[in-house]
Amino acid sequence: MNVQVNPAEMKIDFGGPYVMSIGGKLVGSNETFEVYNPATGGVVANAPAGTREQMEEAIAAAKAAQPAWAALSFKERGAYIEAYADALEANKEDIITLLTTEQGKPRHSMATVEVDAAIYWVREVAKRELKNEVIEDTEDHVVEVAHTPLGVVGAITPWNFPILLGLWKIAPCLLTGNTMVMKPSPYTPLGTLRFGEIAQQIFPEGVLNIVSGGNEQGQWMTEHPDISKISFTGSTATGKKVMASSASNLKRITLELGGNDPAILLPETDYEPLIPVLFDAAYGNAGQWCIATKRLYVHSSQQKQFVDAFVAYASTKTVGDGMDPNTDIGPIQNTMQYNKLRSLFADTKDKGYNIRLGGEIDESLDGNFVPITVVDNPPEDSRVVQEEPFGPILPIIAYDDVDDVIEKANDTEFGLAASVWGPDRDEAIEVGKQIEAGTVWVNEIHIHGIDIPFGGHKQSGMGVENGREGLEEFTNTKTYMFKK
Ligand code: NAD
Repeated sequence: MNVQVNPAEMKIDFGGPYVMSIGGKLVGSNETFEVYNPATGGVVANAPAGTREQMEEAIAAAKAAQPAWAALSFKERGAYIEAYADALEANKEDIITLLTTEQGKPRHSMATVEVDAAIYWVREVAKRELKNEVIEDTEDHVVEVAHTPLGVVGAITPWNFPILLGLWKIAPCLLTGNTMVMKPSPYTPLGTLRFGEIAQQIFPEGVLNIVSGGNEQGQWMTEHPDISKISFTGSTATGKKVMASSASNLKRITLELGGNDPAILLPETDYEPLIPVLFDAAYGNAGQWCIATKRLYVHSSQQKQFVDAFVAYASTKTVGDGMDPNTDIGPIQNTMQYNKLRSLFADTKDKGYNIRLGGEIDESLDGNFVPITVVDNPPEDSRVVQEEPFGPILPIIAYDDVDDVIEKANDTEFGLAASVWGPDRDEAIEVGKQIEAGTVWVNEIHIHGIDIPFGGHKQSGMGVENGREGLEEFTNTKTYMFKK
């Protein structure tokens, strides 16, 4: 199977109106909603607000398309997905610009990294396959395990990494023989609508449908009897609603939820070279990252010097419009999140915690700009330590005893990821093994891979994305037994 793509022909018009993809057709809606540029407060565009009927049409189209799509082999579906990667590549520069415009992240750094990674993911996932496995083969009996498609998958995505997290779902879902209806966050629907439009040039009609609108669309999907699985990335609070509503027809669910990731610097760590790494880990994407480092524990013998050095480095960084090449950290994506941060900053100030950098939000600015903020050793029960801030604010906390800091790291409802840093690799690994989280990095951070499963423990989620396990979550396990 060879799905031919001529990149020049795959270029779509990014100046045109935003449309949904339903049953292979590009459709608008009588109702629209405004999407804002978080750096300016201005309107980027109007997006279609899909009606309930349009959601029904999208689900019906996905259902109708699924048997023929599932009848193709992994290789055949992979060829379509690889062609999709080529088509995305042909539109890459426009996708990056749009991502910065609607999401805020710097075009020259985070936005480019996100789109490059997303296209790479699509291209690589296309090459994977779930082969049947013979687990028993005796003289008179064979047992074979297969992975069959689930049917129609509903995908619901957040606003912090709309391109990457959307394509993380699309590629494995389609590869394994399912069809999809995707609903992006109402804060960042535009890039998703465009990559849906690009997809309509490649996939058979109904295989990938994109519907934009409000939160209620998520509910319509989770309660719909013709959807077999929900692949959800978003907050823990919404994840619980998704789980409850999905019970109606026992949908399979993958939930990628919030986190409050600790980083632990063990005693005598040579921290100077780590400061830029830890800065990016905490403040990249303006802290709006499920796996951002959100609590940094440093041994009390080093904590004071560490904070001085960290603040000196952080002071050189610039918050601004992501289209400006001098910007290191962009704005907060939406006013809901901006207001949550206003409340957290007010609490941090009112409680008299030691704010070593930033701390004052200038509300007279047009954009949702929040300063890079470092809080020196706030108490363990403070909001800035206990909550997922989802903004550019980091508590740096002193500890005396390693067992005690492990307990503190684990004393949270979340369990998404963590990092441990130390001069003795084996000791750091031993500490890492005791952290209750889906991913633990030792002396490195934020490594992801096509073949590396990623998911949260405790209330950070259920199931995984990526890796063989991530592919299997888009399938039913089916066991064949044959008498010879
Ligand atoms: P959110 O939960 O507010 O929204 C996520 C999506 O759910 C949106 O598309 C929204 O429209 C939809 N939604 C809202 N109500 C719904 C309902 N009742 N039923 C179904 N869908 C509904 O999350 P957000 O603010 O967009 O994203 C930020 C959160 O996402 C943070 O907590 C962050 O940690 C988490 N996140 C997790 C991961 C991960 O992989 N674990 C990755 C990125 C973000």
